Amino acid sequence: VKVLVINSGSSSLKYQLIDVERHEVLRSGLCEKVGFFGSFIRYDTPAGEKTIEMPMPNHQEAIRLALESLDNPEDGVIASLDEVDAVGHRIVHGGEYFSEVAYVDESVIEKIEELIELAPLHNPAALMGIEACGILMPDKPQGAVFDTAFHQSMPAKNYIYPILIDFYKEQKIRKYGAHGTSHRYVSQRAIEMLGGDTSARIITCHLGNGGSITAIKDGKSYDTSMGFTPLDGVMMGSRCGSIDPAIVTFIMDHEGLSSDEMNNLMNRRSGLLGVTGISNDLREIDNAAQEGSEVARLAIDMYAQSIRKYIGQYIVELNGVDGIVMTAGIGENSAMMREHIFAELDNLGIKLDSEKNAVRSREARFINAEDSAVKIMVIPTQEEYMIAYDIKRMCEEHGLAQ
Ligand code: AMP
Repeated sequence: VKVLVINSGSSSLKYQLIDVERHEVLRSGLCEKVGFFGSFIRYDTPAGEKTIEMPMPNHQEAIRLALESLDNPEDGVIASLDEVDAVGHRIVHGGEYFSEVAYVDESVIEKIEELIELAPLHNPAALMGIEACGILMPDKPQGAVFDTAFHQSMPAKNYIYPILIDFYKEQKIRKYGAHGTSHRYVSQRAIEMLGGDTSARIITCHLGNGGSITAIKDGKSYDTSMGFTPLDGVMMGSRCGSIDPAIVTFIMDHEGLSSDEMNNLMNRRSGLLGVTGISNDLREIDNAAQEGSEVARLAIDMYAQSIRKYIGQYIVELNGVDGIVMTAGIGENSAMMREHIFAELDNLGIKLDSEKNAVRSREARFINAEDSAVKIMVIPTQEEYMIAYDIKRMCEEHGLAQ
């Protein structure tokens, strides 16, 4: 089964054609500046990356070019689009409606529309992607995989905020979490690596430019650090994560900021970038720290501490922990940050093996010391594969399998 996985942003579109049984990405590409001047499509070929500048006034044109990159006679990877069995869309917000993959029909589209209020930038882009695929490939089944879905298993005590309950009842203000597909994939993989024990208590740390931590109980999300929006939780590249909520109104009053400006400050100019003024990219901060920048060192310590606090919190919520997983850009690649995060936790039975930690690899692996009671794993996340598998399962359940 070949699934086209699409991740539509407001002005970008990432896509991968995945052969599910062979666990192989046949083509990976992206369209940038969709709807703007200077748009281009870029995709991987055996001879390297290929970039073509093309006007893309809308998502339909972007998807048309993405499809052309799949079956063009010059460097296509399939003979014809007939070989594509289904399309899977990554969608940010599924609200309380979706706890798993959904076959896209009119009622699903209506619900995604209804949720625009909760994801004003992302859900409209996803809808444009769905509409465009419906026009360009009307006979292909489409499925939606939601970033929030995995966290729908959280108990109410972990998702209701201590504010007037009417805000939950009337406006659905609650914790939704994010990165669900990634947490689901790495937690399933961790359970396999721990010998298949589905009752294993696991903490998954997705640390990329955005970051979130999830407590996994019985294979399900029990609590997670992102909240009503992806702004909450740990310190991130350019997002502040949890801060005293009174700071928000204080800054708005003192600086005369609108809610949009304050949102922008917290989402784009805070976190590693805000503290250092250097970058939101940990690699650059690490370089600056090595050259003696005090503020870069402070930001690294703050980042590690913010992750440690959540690990501590979730050890309490899970009454212990069997495995901790590191994934995404920082979690998979920064041995330095992992060293900081796991320093001095030996009294909790958590011990890193510095040599194993320093090895660079694309493989899922253990990096804990032999005598560590808790296993520490690095598991490269595979959100697109997970989406492709979900879509294959959806097709089988709907009798659409080839
Ligand atoms: P992601 O959002 O998962 O693509 O992660 C992106 C982030 O991963 C970048 O902003 C970097 O901060 C971080 N990253 C990637 N590679 C490394 C590395 N080798 N060392 C430190 N940080 C890295």
